[in-house]
Order: sequence, then C-alpha cells, then structure tokens
Amino acid sequence: MLSREDLLLFERKFSDINMIAISMILVYYLLFIMFGKVYLVDEIYTAAGFAAVVLADFIFIHFLKNYNDNLKKILKYGMLLLLGWALLQTDSMLYSTIIAMAFYFSVTFQSLFLFDITEPYSRIWAVIFTCSPFSLICFIDMILKDQNNFLIFIIVIALCMFSAVIYNITCRLSEFALLFYNKINSLNGIAAVSKEESDSIKIQKDKLEQINEQLSIERFKFKQANEIILKNNEEIKIQNTIVNAAAKALDLKKLLEYLTEATMVSMKLDFVSFLILTDEEGERRFEYSSKYSRASSIDTSNLERMETRSFAEAYIKNGAVIELSRDASQTINELSGSNIHSMNLTPAVINENSMGLYLLGSINENAFLNNQNFLKSLFNHISLAINNAILYSRMHTMATKDGLTGIYNRRYFNSIYQSIIHRCTSNQSPLTIILFDIDKFKGINDTYGHIFGDKVIRYCGQTALRYGRKYNGLPVRYGGEEFIIVFPKKNTAVVNAVMEEMHTEIKTHIFNIEEKQISINISIGIASYPENCRNTDELLNAADSAMYVSKKNGRGRITLYNQDIMA
Ligand code: GH3
Ligand code: MG
Ligand code: MG
Repeated sequence: MLSREDLLLFERKFSDINMIAISMILVYYLLFIMFGKVYLVDEIYTAAGFAAVVLADFIFIHFLKNYNDNLKKILKYGMLLLLGWALLQTDSMLYSTIIAMAFYFSVTFQSLFLFDITEPYSRIWAVIFTCSPFSLICFIDMILKDQNNFLIFIIVIALCMFSAVIYNITCRLSEFALLFYNKINSLNGIAAVSKEESDSIKIQKDKLEQINEQLSIERFKFKQANEIILKNNEEIKIQNTIVNAAAKALDLKKLLEYLTEATMVSMKLDFVSFLILTDEEGERRFEYSSKYSRASSIDTSNLERMETRSFAEAYIKNGAVIELSRDASQTINELSGSNIHSMNLTPAVINENSMGLYLLGSINENAFLNNQNFLKSLFNHISLAINNAILYSRMHTMATKDGLTGIYNRRYFNSIYQSIIHRCTSNQSPLTIILFDIDKFKGINDTYGHIFGDKVIRYCGQTALRYGRKYNGLPVRYGGEEFIIVFPKKNTAVVNAVMEEMHTEIKTHIFNIEEKQISINISIGIASYPENCRNTDELLNAADSAMYVSKKNGRGRITLYNQDIMA
C-alpha cells in the first residue's frame, strides 16, 4: 500500500500547483475590481473568500504538516465551506464561476488525500467529507434566498452527480494508487535483485582485483627471483672462469697473469691489478700483474707507480676495503687522467707470510655496488689460488734447496745435471765443474761445536752462491761440507782465476768464536769438459779426484784435473 507519507507528499506537490492557480485567480479579481463595474460588492466578497482559502491552504501546507489528520480534516472542511460560500457569491459571473468551481475541485481533490482512498469504507467517508460542505452551503443559501422547488431539484441532481464524480475519482485514484504501489514494489523487487546482483558482481570484481593485485605481487617477486638467478648465474660463470684460470699455473707470476686476464674479461672491467707481497724466511718478494682496457686511458707511468711494493703496502696497512662509485680517478692520484670511475681496492691476507692488494676498476659508475658478497667470495678463491702457488713455490724450494745454506741441494743437482751436460754438448760449449771440501772440518765441529760448524758451512754456501751468481755458475751443496759449482760455457783458465779469488776470500775470512778469531781453509778440484775430461759422465768424479789431490798435497789448495790423476 502507498504510505500516508507518499500520499501527503503527492498532496503537497498538488497544493503547490494550487497555490499558483490561487495567485492567478487573485490577480484576475484584482484586475476585475479595478476595471469592471458590475456587482462590485459581491466580487469583493468572492475575492475575500478565495483569499481566506489561500491563507488557510498556505497555513495547512506550511505550518500543519506535522499535526494530526483530524485537525487537518477540520481545516479542510472549513476551507470547503468557505469555498462553497464564495462560489455561490459568483453565480452571476460565468468566468468567475468556472474558476471558482475548478478551485473547489482542486481543494476537494487535496482533501481526498486526508483519507485512505485505497480503502472502500474510507473512500465513502472521503466522498461525504468533500461533497457535504457544498451541499450544506447550497441548502443554507436556498433557504435564505427562498428558491423554488425546481432549482432545489436541479441542485440535488447536481450534488448527486458531483458525489458520483468524486466517488469515481476516488475509485480511479485507489486503482492508480494500487497500480502505482505494485509498480513501485515490483521496481523495488527488481532493484533489490539487481542490487543483489550488482553486489555480487562488486564482490567478484573486488576478488578479481585482489587476485590481480596478488598476481602483480607474485609477478614482481618472480621477476626479482629471476633477476637474482640471472645475477647468480653470471657470478657462477665469472667464478668458473677465474677458478679455471687459477688451475692453469702454479708459478705465481704466471698465475697472476692468468687471474688478472680472466677477471678482466669475465667481469667486463677496464682495469685489474693484483699485487702480492711475500716474506718467506726473511726473503721478501713482490709479484704483480695488471691489465687495463684502452677505454680506461690509464697512463703507463702512473700504472708503474701502482705496481710498487710501497703502493700495495699503504693500502694493505690500512686494511679496509675501499670502494669508489664515481670519480675514482680524482680520488686516487695514480689513476689521475684516466677514465676510471669505479674502483674497488681490497687488501687480502693470503697466508701468515703473504699479503695481497686486489684492484678492480671500471669506466662505469657504481660498477661494484651491491656486489660485496660476490667480490668477497671471488677474492677468497683468488687468494686460495695464490696461496697454493706460494705453497707450491715453498715446497719446491724445500725440495730443491738446502735448508742450511739456501743453495741447491744434491738431489736437485742430480735432476738437472744431465740437461746441463746435454745443453753444453749440443752447443759444443765447455763445461767446468769445481768441487771443494772444508779442510779438517771434523776438528772445527769438535772444538767449537756443531752450531759453529753450521755457521761455517752456511758461510761457505753463501760464498759459493755469490761467486756462482757473479760468474754465471750453479752452486750446489753436494754433501756435508762439500760444495760444487757448475760453470757452463767456461774453461779451466777462467774458472781457475775465479777459484783463486774465492779461495783467497774464504781462507782470509775471520770467524769470531768464544773471543777467538779463527779462519778456515778449503781444498778445491777443477775438472773441465772437453779440455781435460773427454767424458762428461766422468766430469764429477774428475773434479772429486782433483779435490782429493789437493787434500793429499797438503790441503788449502786448487788442483786442475788431468789424465794422470785419473790413472
Ligand atoms: P778433511 O780435511 O779430510 O776433509 O777432514 P774432515 O774433518 O773435514 O773430514 P770429513 O770430511 O770426514 O768430515 C766431515 C765432517 O763434517 C763429518 C760430519 O760430522 C761433519 N758434518 C757433515 N755435515 C755437517 C753439518 O751439516 N753440520 C755440521 N756441523 N757438521 C757436519
Ligand atoms: Mg772435510
Ligand atoms: Mg768431507
């Protein structure tokens, strides 16, 4: 059913239109009063009646909205009475009558809405309510004016017709209201259904949006993971290249060359330099290898300043990794004038005696950003390879050199002796070997102890080394206090002179022990191929025999081998 609020709303809208009509009627009467002459008093009454109804309607609409229906009904009934009276005052004027009738109908129509016209019982009341004021006024007026029976008959007929019309209007309104209600309800139903549907669509849409958002996050995560995998792959590739390069050489110098090359190519860098400092049993060593691209524009004289022990030591002492993301050439003096923007300088501890400084450079900015972990692991690999090379070199030294004197041992000599002979015979160049033995060394040991004896042996070894270096000879500790020096491409005359010089130095050297000053002497034998020894296989024995001749002849002397000695 239509609610009373709906009906009152309709009535209000209708009343607004009514107000405009009333205003027009008033203007009409005012004009009529000003320019018309007929029945002036009656016209004033009629206009006053309409004005009263206008005022009542205005009050009714604007001030009594919230009052109860009975009060409104009384007011509307009063208005209808007033209108009926006003209508009867206009009976001599056709236009005024028509307007007044229309006006009466409009108020009647409004009044119907004070009843529930969808209810038949209430509808009867509405008809009585709206029609009775006019009939009441008519009867009163008739009685007052003493009208004849025919007019009464006409009025009764008119009233019946009026009631029938009103009743019909209420019925139509009732139907209309029901139709309107059903329509509204069905529309509401559709709206409810479509609202439900649109709600569910909205939920689906929200869900889709959520899923989409989730997918976007997953896609982003996937992309990130992919980037990490690609980066890891690239890093593994670089590491493989460098590890392969590390396996190529055991010699430190060569290894550094391979490593710098592999690092530069695999990491697409413009500058790589590895500087290694070793301090093995007091023997300091500095090895390095550097590579740079043409694009780097590194100045060679500047590079030479970097390839120094002091440069490496300065950064190693500092101990911290230095990373420059831009303008490295302005920060590091040795790079000035170059195009290097990014630099990574990493000091490394290779083993207890060895340190390194690894330099990586690129002409690009931020080349080493977010690469710390990778570089750390890479440098660990490089340090390990360098350490292996250093260990290998140490082992090699231990295997080939004598620990006491630092010169080659007999084992190493034996391993290369044949190749020395081969080189000389194939070049047809002479080969001279000297052998010397410390005289009465047992006595030195016995008198001053083994430690002093060792000192004497070390002195002899170092002296042999010096003479070997000076005259391109290979010194070897051949036995306890026996030494040999191999002189390729030298004949007896030359070697004899060298031995004279060396012998003089040794026998005049003063050792200080227990506040005493003592000296030693040596016996030397010289044999030379092909000069006095035709057979290279006998060269060593020949030198030994010559040395024994020196011993036999009173020690502290030099003996040249000859065929008689052998005999
Ligand atoms: P000769 O003049 O005949 O050569 O007399 P010598 O006393 O030198 O005799 P020999 O060659 O037999 O003695 C060598 C000694 O050198 C025997 C050994 O104890 C000693 N010796 C060998 N190697 C070492 C070493 O490394 N340190 C020391 N302190 N002594 C050694
Ligand atoms: Mg001896
Ligand atoms: Mg001896």
